[in-house]
Amino acid sequence: MPKSFERRERNRESDGRRRQLKSWRAWYATKAWLERRREQLSKQPLCERCLAKVPSIITPATVAHHKVAHKGDRTLFFEGELASSCAPCHDTVEQGIEARGYEIGCDASGRPVASDHPWNIKQ
Ligand SMILES: [Zn+2]
Repeated sequence: MPKSFERRERNRESDGRRRQLKSWRAWYATKAWLERRREQLSKQPLCERCLAKVPSIITPATVAHHKVAHKGDRTLFFEGELASSCAPCHDTVEQGIEARGYEIGCDASGRPVASDHPWNIKQ
């Protein structure tokens, strides 16, 4: 099989995957999502992560964050539990947790605090 054909086939596959990955992005423009987001931010207008800091920081929330990453799951997207977040918390903390699978940080002994950190998961 000629290399150019293989490359074209690979590109076609990756275009298909990209389209699939992006399809859920359109859900953010639906009336149902905009209503859920508005309800969440009016119920809790402050960033929950900033409030949980010691001492608390009062920061207006601008993001309705999915507590469980929906990863394109329609039910989780439209019905999963939400949290109010400011953009810096959402963009750094939450997306870092989603990428790594656990929250960073450790106690005084150096042990990771996240119960789902690989060090804290019993084999
Ligand atoms: Zn925040």
